[in-house]
Amino acid sequence: AIQTRGLVKSFGDNEVLSGIDLTVQAGEVVCIIGPSGSGKSTLLRSVNLLEEPTGGSILIEGIDITDPETDIDRVRTRIGMVFQSFNLFPHMTVLGNLAIAQRRVKKRPKGEAERVAREMLDRVGLAEKADAYPSHLSGGQQQRVAIARALCMNPDMMLFDEPTSALDPELVGEVLQVMRSLADEGMTMLVVTHEMGFAREVGSRLIFMDGGNIVEEGDPHEVLSNPQHQRTKDFLSRVL
Ligand code: ATP
Ligand code: MG
Repeated sequence: AIQTRGLVKSFGDNEVLSGIDLTVQAGEVVCIIGPSGSGKSTLLRSVNLLEEPTGGSILIEGIDITDPETDIDRVRTRIGMVFQSFNLFPHMTVLGNLAIAQRRVKKRPKGEAERVAREMLDRVGLAEKADAYPSHLSGGQQQRVAIARALCMNPDMMLFDEPTSALDPELVGEVLQVMRSLADEGMTMLVVTHEMGFAREVGSRLIFMDGGNIVEEGDPHEVLSNPQHQRTKDFLSRVL
C-alpha cells in the first residue's frame, strides 16, 4: 500500500501540496484528475521521492520513506513509474532498453535480464519488437515498451503520469488496454489521467485535486456523474 500523511511540498514560497492524505491499498487503481498546476505530478513524484517532501510522511508498505534511515533506492525499485514522455535510449534496441536497468539496478546477468525483458514485452503485446530501435516504433508502441521496462523491475505498484497525453488519439487505446490488463492482474496503480472513460471503468476510486488539495474523492461513477463540490463540477463541465 501507498500512504501519504499530511504531505506538504513547497517550491520556495509556492505551496504546491497542502497536506495530502492519500491511501492506495494493494490491488487498488486510484485515478487522479484535476486542472493544470493542481499538484498531480508533484504528488506522484513525491511518492517515489523524485521530489523531497517539505512536510508530512509517505509510507510504502508501512515503511516511512521520508525517514533518513530508510534505504530509498530499495523502496524505489518496488515502484514503477511511467511518464508522459517515454525516455527510451534511442541508440539501443527495445531489448537493450529493457535489459539495462535490470543489469545496473537488479544486477541481473545478461541472459536473465533478456529473458525477463522478452516476457514483459510479450505482456504488452510487443514480443516481435525486441530487436527494433525506438525510432522505428509508433508512440503507442514506445509507451508500451516504457511500461514493459517498468515491469522488468518487478514492481509491487505502478505510478502513471498522463501516460497517453503525448499520443495521437488513435494510439491511446492500445496503451489504456495494457494498463487495464495490469489492473485486472491486480497491480496497485496510481494514475494521473485525462481519460475519463478509463477512470470510470478501470478505477476503483477517483480523486479530484485542485490547488494542492484533494477536493473530492469516491467511486468514479459517483464523482463523475454526481460531483459534490463546485470546483469539481466546474472542472468536469470543462473536460467532459
Ligand atoms: P499538469 O496538469 O499541467 O501536468 P500538475 O497538476 O501535474 O499540472 P504540477 O506539475 O504538480 O501540476 O505543478 C504544480 C505546481 O508546482 C505548479 O505551479 C508548478 O509550477 C510548480 N512546480 C512543479 N515542479 C516545480 C519545480 N521543480 N520547481 C518549481 N516549481 C515547480
Ligand atoms: Mg502534471
